[in-house]
Amino acid sequence: MSFSSLGLSDALVRAVTERGYTVPTPIQRQAIPAVLSGGDLLAGAQTGTGKTAGFTLPILQRLAADNGKNTNAGGHAPIRALILTPTRELAAQVEESVREYGKYVKLKSMVMFGGVGIQPQIQQLRNRVDILVATPGRLLDHVGQGTLNLSRIEVLVLDEADRMLDMGFIHDIKKVLALLPRKRQNLLFSATFSEEIRTLADSLLNRPALIEAARRNAPAEAVTQRVYLVDRERKRELLAHLIRENRWRQVLVFTRTKHGANRLSEQLTKGGISALAIHGNKSQSARTHALAQFKSGALPVLVATDIAARGIDIIELPHVVNFELPNVPEDYIHRIGRTGRAGAEGEAVSLVCVDEHKLLADIEKVLKRSVPREVIPGFEPDPRIQAEPIPNGRNRGPAPSRSPSRNHAPSRAHTESARPLHSRETLSGRGRPAKTAVQSSRKAVKIPALMGG
Ligand code: AMP
Repeated sequence: MSFSSLGLSDALVRAVTERGYTVPTPIQRQAIPAVLSGGDLLAGAQTGTGKTAGFTLPILQRLAADNGKNTNAGGHAPIRALILTPTRELAAQVEESVREYGKYVKLKSMVMFGGVGIQPQIQQLRNRVDILVATPGRLLDHVGQGTLNLSRIEVLVLDEADRMLDMGFIHDIKKVLALLPRKRQNLLFSATFSEEIRTLADSLLNRPALIEAARRNAPAEAVTQRVYLVDRERKRELLAHLIRENRWRQVLVFTRTKHGANRLSEQLTKGGISALAIHGNKSQSARTHALAQFKSGALPVLVATDIAARGIDIIELPHVVNFELPNVPEDYIHRIGRTGRAGAEGEAVSLVCVDEHKLLADIEKVLKRSVPREVIPGFEPDPRIQAEPIPNGRNRGPAPSRSPSRNHAPSRAHTESARPLHSRETLSGRGRPAKTAVQSSRKAVKIPALMGG
């Protein structure tokens, strides 16, 4: 199976070939023809599956096909595709992909997020923009200022929709939907399917094609997972030991809190291992700087909270360390999805203390497998140490926010009911294997009946 056999134009095939992709990933094989057909799409796909190219390539093709025919009253080309993402990093990354894959077609893209000056964005909007990738908050700022016209949108993508709802963006999404023309193509991508996502999909999508990528981390194919049992107070020492002993040069480390991320990066740096932290309280320029350093290989350790790490895409990131286990098992899957991407080998290590055994058991339940436990000589846990409760706050980094609603506690969607699709649980019926890779829901969308949850 090649990209051209999926119906993509030579210009797009050339761009992906130059990027080094030879074979479409399963989600691309399903999504590309579905999106090219012009219908709505509901896709269960996590980051790391190649979903970005899965929606970007066919959108580029569709827009390029009748490029130039569309102009506004003033002779100005309108914005024709809108991709909404939960975080700034993901927006930046998706737009980079749009530019990369679209380098041989004559379409212009723009990325729009908060935390940076609005004026240059206003300036850019005066020029041609065909595809806009945005976070909801800044997008609505522009709408409020009258600097953005969404009345000619032909394709809408909600990327990582579950995370957008989790971050409290539902009201913003509804406001954005109200600004779009009624006739358009809608694509919704989500890793998990909570009640809220089903409701959203139900109201948004018209007879969608339903596709899903295999849950890539179920039994982690490309990711070796390991637990090191260690005392709470000795985790930092063990991490430094692992980095030094194994000569790790690019490690993404997760902490549960922003404060924890700061403290750990400072302590590692003091101990001679360069590290920076990224989380929602850091300025956009500090986040961009840290990420660029890390991506280039100049910075060996990046310490991140769950939200900040969304959208970090480094091909073949070799090591992910859970310095603390996340409170919600699905975050573990998102975290380890940072490594072993698109077929590369990766290693995910979790430093687990006596407080976290229940969290580990919950994660293993979702993974449907146990993760091997090991003890590093010299770091044996002290059996006299008692478990202590883990503070329950998720302490997610704030969204690129404007209104208080975006900073509120995570919704029930994530803490209670959201979870990834299980390998035997499909969009087309829980526990029943999907009949075909892509199927059209015959009846007008009755998503609740179609998805487990
Ligand atoms: P995504 O799930 O869209 O974040 O993509 C995950 C990673 O897979 C990115 O680094 C992409 O560049 C890479 N990728 C996407 N499609 C392919 C492909 N067909 N072959 C190899 N790598 C790919």
